Amino acid sequence: MAPITSDILSKLKAAFPEIVILTPASPEYEKSMERYFRSAEHQAGAVIYPRNVDDVADILRFSTNHKIDLAVCGVGHNGKGNSIENGLVIDLRKMTSVSVNPIKKTITTQGAAMWSDIYAEAEKYDLAAVGGVTPSVGVGGFTINGGYSWLNGAHGMGCDNLFEAEVVLADGRVMICSEKENEDLFWAMKGAGSIFGIVTKFVLKAHEQKNLVWKGEMGFKRSQLRGVCDVINKTMGEENNGGKASVLMLSGVLPGTSEVGIILIPWYNGPEDEAKTFFAPLLEMEPIFDTTKMMPFSQSGVEGGGSIGREWRKVIVGGSLMAPLDATWLGTMFEDLENLINTLPDAATSVIGFEFHNPVATMKIGQTETAYPDRGTHGTMFLSPTWTKEENDAVCRKWCEKEDAKMIKEFRKRQGEKQVDNTTRTSSGRYPNYDYLGLSPKEVYGVNYERILSLKKKYDPGNVFKEYVDLFLG
Ligand SMILES: Cc1cc2nc3c(=O)[nH]c(=O)nc-3n(C[C@H](O)[C@H](O)[C@H](O)COP(=O)(O)OP(=O)(O)OC[C@H]3O[C@@H](n4cnc5c(N)ncnc54)[C@H](O)[C@@H]3O)c2cc1C
Repeated sequence: MAPITSDILSKLKAAFPEIVILTPASPEYEKSMERYFRSAEHQAGAVIYPRNVDDVADILRFSTNHKIDLAVCGVGHNGKGNSIENGLVIDLRKMTSVSVNPIKKTITTQGAAMWSDIYAEAEKYDLAAVGGVTPSVGVGGFTINGGYSWLNGAHGMGCDNLFEAEVVLADGRVMICSEKENEDLFWAMKGAGSIFGIVTKFVLKAHEQKNLVWKGEMGFKRSQLRGVCDVINKTMGEENNGGKASVLMLSGVLPGTSEVGIILIPWYNGPEDEAKTFFAPLLEMEPIFDTTKMMPFSQSGVEGGGSIGREWRKVIVGGSLMAPLDATWLGTMFEDLENLINTLPDAATSVIGFEFHNPVATMKIGQTETAYPDRGTHGTMFLSPTWTKEENDAVCRKWCEKEDAKMIKEFRKRQGEKQVDNTTRTSSGRYPNYDYLGLSPKEVYGVNYERILSLKKKYDPGNVFKEYVDLFLG
C-alpha cells in the first residue's frame, strides 16, 4: 500500500465525478481534517465522501486496485484510526440516516449516524438504544468495538444489540452479516469491527423507554470516596440486578475550587422516588452540588466537559477496575492526578473517568462468543490528561503510561484472585476504543486475538483496514 499520488488523484476524480472529493487545495480541506483528538489528525492526500453502499464498494475497489493507504472516518471521535497521512480518507459523514421500526423494535442507520440523532428518532416511538453515554459519539466506532452505555446493565454491550450489519470488504464485496448469515464476520463485527470493513448499514435492537430517567451531577470531596465507592459497589452488585442504575464518575478539579474531588453522575431508569431510594446514601452524604432531576432518556447524555475544543491536547488510555472497588487503592490514583495537576497547571482539566453498571447482562454472553474481549465483574476506568502546550506532550503522555501500568497491574492482581469467575478471569481488561497509547493488538483483544487474526486473514488479507489497530503487529 502507498500514499496517494497526483496521478492516482486524477484517476480518482475521473472515476467518481459525482462524489465530493477534497484535496489539500480545497478550501474545506483543513476543516475536514479536524478530529475530536488532535493526535488523530493527519494531512490526508484526499478525502472522499461516499453517499451510499454502492459508492463505498466502488471506492474500496478503486483504492484496493490502486493500492492506496486508507482510513475510514465515522463521526471522528476516536483518538486513532480515522485519518491517515498522505493517504485516502473515506469519510462517512454524508451517511447519517436513521429510521425506526416500532413494530419490530429495530433502528436502522447508515455508517456515521450520531447517537443524539438516533435517540431523538427512537424517542418518537418511546424507544431507546444501547448507545453512547456521550450522544455526539458515532454509531460506527461505538457499536463495532464494544459500546459503553447507560443501558449496559439492562441490555448488554452496544455490540450485543447489533442485529445485522451490511459490511463492505476491502475488495468491494458487500456482505450482510447476522446470527444467521456470515456468522463469523458477524462475530468479528461485535468488538473488532473497525479492522474488517466499512459498515454501511446497522440494524440495532431498540428497547422500550416510556419513562423519564433520573440523572445529574453531584460533587463530593475526596474524603468522601469510601462512601461513594459503597454506592458504586451497590450499583455493580445484586441490589441492581436488572441494571436500572448506572454511575459515571470523574475525578478532577471540582468547579470553583483548586482541589481534586469527585464528580459523580448517577443515572436511574425509573421513577424519582425509586432513584432516590437507590441512591439515598449519596444524598445523605450532602454533596457539594447536586443537579439530579428527571429528564428524557435522549437528554441524559454526558458531553466531553470543559476540555472539548481543539486547543486541548489529549490522550486517553482505558483499563478495567474490578468490583468491589478498593477505595484505598483508588485514592492513590486520585493523589497521582493531583500531583500531575499541581506540578503542571497546564493539565488542570485532566480527569480520570469511570463507568459502572451491573455486569449480569454483559456477562450473559461469554468472553469468546463475540470479538469484544472485556466482559467481567468490573467497571471501566480511563486516564485522560488534557493540556494545551506542545512542550507538555511528553510529560502528559508519560504520566498516562505510568498510571496505565499501575491500573493494569492492579486489575491483573485482582483478576487472579481465587473467587473470580472464569469470564472475568479471561477479560482483557482493555476497552479497544479507549487505547490511544498504541497497546499491542494481543493485549487489546486478549483471548479473542487468535480468532480475530484468522478471520482477518480471511476477510482482509491485504490488511487494508489497519489504522485503528494493525492486527498483524501481534
Ligand atoms: C467525548 C467522548 C465520549 C465518549 N463516550 C463514549 C461512551 O459513552 N461509550 C463508549 O463506549 N465510548 C465512548 N467514547 C469512545 C467512542 O465510542 C469511540 O471513540 C468510538 O470509536 C467513536 O466512534 P466514531 O464513529 O464517533 O469515531 P471515528 O473516530 O470516526 O471511528 C472510530 C473507528 O471506527 C471506525 N469506524 C467508524 N465508523 C465506521 C463504520 N461505519 N464502519 C467501519 N468502521 C468505522 C473508524 O475507521 C475508526 O477506526 C467516547 C469518546 C469521546 C471522545
